[in-house]
Amino acid sequence: MAANDPGQPPLSAGAAGWSANLPVPASALAIGAHPDDVEFGAGGTLAKWAAAGCVVHHLVCTDGSKGSWDPAADLSELVARRQREQREAARRLAGDRSGGVVFLGRVDGELDCDRTTRGDVVRVIRALRPAVVLGHDPWKRYRLHPDHRNAGVLACEAIVAARDPHFHPEHGLEPHRPSALLLWEADQPSHVEDVTTMVERKLFALAAHESQFESTMKAVDDDQLDAFRAGIVARLAELGAPHGFAAAEVFALVTDL
Ligand SMILES: [Zn+2]
Repeated sequence: MAANDPGQPPLSAGAAGWSANLPVPASALAIGAHPDDVEFGAGGTLAKWAAAGCVVHHLVCTDGSKGSWDPAADLSELVARRQREQREAARRLAGDRSGGVVFLGRVDGELDCDRTTRGDVVRVIRALRPAVVLGHDPWKRYRLHPDHRNAGVLACEAIVAARDPHFHPEHGLEPHRPSALLLWEADQPSHVEDVTTMVERKLFALAAHESQFESTMKAVDDDQLDAFRAGIVARLAELGAPHGFAAAEVFALVTDL
């Protein structure tokens, strides 16, 4: 059953007021600020859905050009490398169900949620017509990185504009209303996805982002990479435990779209 089937109860009950395990959608669009954010936030969920037939699309808002601690790094090479890594990560997550990666190409660290940028996200939503959209929670308290906050705002506001016909008629695209929005790193998570069978696949996809081993994953040798992986495994287990899952990702779920 697709998540946008009208009249169907979309969710199973989770622990104590939580919902659990959306029905596998026909298609999903994950909107991240940087290459690797989607794998961290929702990699297990997307891999699980892809294995069940969902087409998984990625939209990456910035070019990742701040993703190096080397002051002398060749930034155009870094951007190209991160695009290659992101495409590989998308393939690792979804295999032949990967719908590919759209790169918005905004400068890393300078993502705005102005109308022009929002319009670009709207165009992607209307073109790809995902049943479920996933993104950063822009209301996460004490979040410092502006790109994560702004990418979250863009995802939320673009859903509104994509569904209403008088926004961006210049696109020449039909409006589209997704059935659900899942926000990762949620300030108040309300929904859990069991990713017990997809932990290794999430780690495999994260490992595609080799340029980020030093800066994001703090791992420049095998022992540190093992520690990084162990940290992810422990976190997924911690998130799943209250719900009876060996590993889980959690989200704020919005269905009133
Ligand atoms: Zn990021």
